[in-house]
Amino acid sequence: MTSTQFNPFRIAQHQFDTAAELLDLPQSIREILRVPQRELSVNFPVKMDDGSTKVYAGYRVQHNLARGPAKGGIRYHHAVDLDEVRALAMWMTWKCALVNIPYGGAKGGVVVDPRTRSLSELERLTRRFATEISILLGPEKDIPAPDMNTNPQVMAWIMDTISMHRGYTVPAVITGKPVNVGGSLGRVEATGRGVSLMVREIAKQAGLSLDKLQVIVQGFGNVGGTAAMLLEQMGCRVVGVADTNGGYYRRNGLDIQALNDHAARHPYRSLEGYTADGVECPSNAELLEMPCDVLIPAALDGQITSLNANRIHARFIVEGANGPTTPEADDILNDRGIVVVPDILANAGGVIASYFEWVQGLQEFFWDETDVNQKLERIIVGAFEQIYQSAQEKKQSLRTAAYQLAVRRVADATITRGIYP
Ligand code: GLU
Repeated sequence: MTSTQFNPFRIAQHQFDTAAELLDLPQSIREILRVPQRELSVNFPVKMDDGSTKVYAGYRVQHNLARGPAKGGIRYHHAVDLDEVRALAMWMTWKCALVNIPYGGAKGGVVVDPRTRSLSELERLTRRFATEISILLGPEKDIPAPDMNTNPQVMAWIMDTISMHRGYTVPAVITGKPVNVGGSLGRVEATGRGVSLMVREIAKQAGLSLDKLQVIVQGFGNVGGTAAMLLEQMGCRVVGVADTNGGYYRRNGLDIQALNDHAARHPYRSLEGYTADGVECPSNAELLEMPCDVLIPAALDGQITSLNANRIHARFIVEGANGPTTPEADDILNDRGIVVVPDILANAGGVIASYFEWVQGLQEFFWDETDVNQKLERIIVGAFEQIYQSAQEKKQSLRTAAYQLAVRRVADATITRGIYP
């Protein structure tokens, strides 16, 4: 595979095939697991504020349901396509299995740049998309959540739309909702919190203190912004951050609170226009290659490829994004001794907290934030320790060890259930 053929679904299948080979899975199980179980493509009209009507394309893909209902976010992005959603759905299956929460994997997407749409257009688009995919959704069937460019408000509209159709409120049909309509405390920060815990754990294994550990974060949305803030609080020095418009680098450390305040004041958390003493503005691509101890790609997939993997200076990469590293880049990083904490572990904090939200919604019994954070930490750190130990024993990368554990669990569930009829 070469980086010029970048296709996230081919990459996801390649990763699966590698794990299946190592596990010596039966051919029939490989055939089942390397493709999505269900795919729904929809084209739907939305009335624009100027009175015109525009047709949007959207997808919901359920990769696997062997271990429980399908789970995974919905993203709004102008470049989303079916193959990307397929890959993301497959990664959700492995992620849920890896941290041992009772879900299969799914993902959804709408081809739209939400930055170009008004709030009321986004509400109509969301409600119509939710209606189109509602045949798949339900607390016991498929439970969406936020992903790139979607947020608690979008989740509230989806929850409300499904509830209007049913005639009663169905909080557990979606997670990542605002707290005042059944969301969980700690959910918004959960993915970034998980990422910061993974930085802490990998540093601990390497015998490094967090104090002054130099960190670069690509992406300053919910995941990157929160991870940067928590890492700063843990004593790390966040020297670089970037959003879609470009990077910000300061050798002695950036002021993350000031960056977060700037982002909070701008639509879609944009950092554009941020300035401060001693801050350089490298491009997004340059920032990835600047000196640091830990690099956290927390934006789009396909960021670390054979084209730049040789120039990465970090000792550790903690994948906040889904699919930021291509398999070729993975090999290069491995050869260079750069340790990668893989996406299906590093960014699992979000779906773990989603699981807690779903459980709280079904039981109508809500936990305090300390409870949520402690349970999240126990699950994600427990998974890290298990994978780290297995990787050490088998002399494998953390990604290979993680895939083996996750794919094994899904394959076992499939074999135990048997093939119907
Ligand atoms: N979109 C997030 C992810 O990629 C969260 C999914 C969820 O909470 O269901 O893991």
